[in-house]
Amino acid sequence: MSEVIKKQTILSGMQPTGSLHVGNLEGALRNWTNLQNDYWMYCCIVDLHALTADFKNTKPMKDKIFQMAVDFLSAGLDPEKCAIFIQSEVPQHAELHLLFSMLITVPTLTRMPTYQEKKEKLDSYGFLGYPVLQAADICLYNADKVPVGKDQEKHIWLAKDLAQRFNTIYKKTFKEPEALFTTIPLILGSDNRKMSKSLDNHIPLDFTEKQTEKRLRSFYTDPNKQRKGDPGNPEKCPIYLLHKVYTDNPENEIAPECKTGALGCVDCKMKLNVNLNDALRPIRDKRVELLKDESYVWDVLATGGERARQRAENMMEKVRSSMKISYRKKK
Ligand code: SF4
Repeated sequence: MSEVIKKQTILSGMQPTGSLHVGNLEGALRNWTNLQNDYWMYCCIVDLHALTADFKNTKPMKDKIFQMAVDFLSAGLDPEKCAIFIQSEVPQHAELHLLFSMLITVPTLTRMPTYQEKKEKLDSYGFLGYPVLQAADICLYNADKVPVGKDQEKHIWLAKDLAQRFNTIYKKTFKEPEALFTTIPLILGSDNRKMSKSLDNHIPLDFTEKQTEKRLRSFYTDPNKQRKGDPGNPEKCPIYLLHKVYTDNPENEIAPECKTGALGCVDCKMKLNVNLNDALRPIRDKRVELLKDESYVWDVLATGGERARQRAENMMEKVRSSMKISYRKKK
């Protein structure tokens, strides 16, 4: 893959949680597969970040990384267009994290919303420095943009702030990255909370069609609609949110009949079941294919890692030089 053509660079990352679910697909992956056509993409499986939540039980990490890479490819990320790689295989992430950590105060980090939310459970030095590592992830590739949800806005602000500080103290070295907000559909899980593997309210991409149907049957619906004939409010229903993604014209096909009561929740769920399974079938088929050739998936990660390391080392040479901590003679 050549980078001769002038395109902007995007860095995106996801913690290795194993196989992905519909919330990940619609909340991030679909967006990434579109962006890869217009930007140089670096898609990082951020295993070092995952250590901040659990640094003891590391044995399952390898399989989680593998399953995530399989889903990245199944969903349409193209290794010809984007580097898919494992964060810890590019040691420059850790190096830039350390250098950036000199430029920020502890009180600034303790004010970060994610730290405030989880500090009772995760009070390690590593967790406190998580946003600094995230800033390093972004700046290491001199990324122009980072596709994020609104909840991550503050972290991108920090990356921009660290890039500015570095440029001011030493020498202009980094671009100042910008958040790339895209409209992503709201996807809720079976219990009407954000779809999440840890809440077990999700629809995994590797579910069979039968498992998908069973999970949909268990979904929360408008509690005022107890039976067919009762009027419902689709805007209060996670099934309708999924129809908005997977059913053509749901405003006319689903919402009016929900409101009048003509459509019962079971029938509504089964309509969604057909459309959702139709949409996921190509991804699932690709998944099965990829699982027959594990070495291909590891090769994609190795090639992506090589490409990421080259770009990262080029950047680190500039960083060390700007800081005047580059002591070896150039060959
Ligand atoms: S009919 Fe459909 S949209 Fe309406 S409440 Fe039931 S499941 Fe939700």
